[in-house]
Amino acid sequence: MRRISIFGSTGSIGESTVDLIARAPEEYDVLALTGGRNIARLAEQAVALNAKLVVTCFPEYRQELAELLSGTGIEVAAGPKAIAEAAERPADWVMSAIVGSAGLVPGLKALEQGAVLALANKESLVCAGELLMRTAHAHGSDVLPVDSEHSAVWQALVGEEISEVERVIITASGGAFRDWPLEDLPKATPEQASTHPNWDMGQRITVDSASMFNKSLELIETREFFGFLPEQIEVLVHPQSLVHAMVGFKDGALMAHVGPPDMRHAIGYALHYPERRDLPVDRLDLAKVGTLEFRAPCDARWPALRLAREVMEIRGLSGAVFNAAKEQALDAFLAREIRFTDMAAVVEEVLHAMDRENALKCDRMRLEDVIETDHVARIRAAEAASRINMDA
Ligand code: NAD
Ligand code: MG
Repeated sequence: MRRISIFGSTGSIGESTVDLIARAPEEYDVLALTGGRNIARLAEQAVALNAKLVVTCFPEYRQELAELLSGTGIEVAAGPKAIAEAAERPADWVMSAIVGSAGLVPGLKALEQGAVLALANKESLVCAGELLMRTAHAHGSDVLPVDSEHSAVWQALVGEEISEVERVIITASGGAFRDWPLEDLPKATPEQASTHPNWDMGQRITVDSASMFNKSLELIETREFFGFLPEQIEVLVHPQSLVHAMVGFKDGALMAHVGPPDMRHAIGYALHYPERRDLPVDRLDLAKVGTLEFRAPCDARWPALRLAREVMEIRGLSGAVFNAAKEQALDAFLAREIRFTDMAAVVEEVLHAMDRENALKCDRMRLEDVIETDHVARIRAAEAASRINMDA
């Protein structure tokens, strides 16, 4: 039996992972599940998958979780430290599906004990790509992409030489405001930003899709995962979300990965790799789809893409600043403290202020520096957001 753990099991990616595991329970020994406030669902998953340990990141929910699981023999714990400890338990395959930089430490711990890390939590690669990949290398463990675009690139690269790749194209739906008049964007509400035309995802990534911060994180993720140069990586707006990525080779061939917008494909590929198994995803009828559209992204609509390009050049700790400032700006937007278009302004201000005199460059990053940088960037972003709020 394969020993597996799912970090962020109650989220959108977590639920899709649970769905795949629950279809073949005899194959898996579920060690740990972790979640947040949705205690009832966390407990239900733990019982259904016969998990050994469940952890909520909020200590105030520990009691409720323990009561729901009393008599089951399932171990209960709470708090960020307990989540990190859960990641230290030897597992064969670990799903990293916590949202935000909180996913970094459990991911590192899982790699240190030699687990294969299926990485949905793109923020870990953005904050600390060099550290994460070095940790995997040092412990002989693997990081497998779960983001749909990166899974698509990975699949297009099977049997190919990285040195023969000319370019990589990741697609973006354009999110909720793709076709809005530019002058209406400052008026966009959190509710409007939280609906996605094609994908059903967690709220934070859905808003990040509308602002293109999600695609910005993915540009950086592509660089850190595969080592391509910034100028080799392109973003293409593709409203249907059926072509997830394309890899262009030096002979001019372009290999596209096409599939329905269902994360269970990418999760299943990472779960069964190197095998391909039957997965419960719809089969595409391209005659019905009829048309696939592509267009270049508009810089004025999506300034986040330009900022991501700066991060791809600087590397070092700039990704930690970019991500933390983005998370803070997103909180401020969701709390209606700043406008939709202010999010990029906050991130730009913090990134430029902290990038003075190459302060963010570093060849070998340490976890303490990433955590400290994340902390400072959040404080600066909160200050920038409250200043914008007062000016408005
Ligand atoms: P979600 O908000 O639906 O779920 C997040 C999970 O993390 C929940 O279980 C929540 O309880 C837990 N969590 C939240 N904050 C936490 C914290 N501080 N500490 C510990 N646990 C915490 O998010 P999601 O949409 O499933 O996304 C998860 C990750 O996968 C993100 O990094 C996202 O960018 C990435 N991703 C998601 C999709 C998608 O289709 N949803 C696609 C590609 C990549
Ligand atoms: Mg993606």
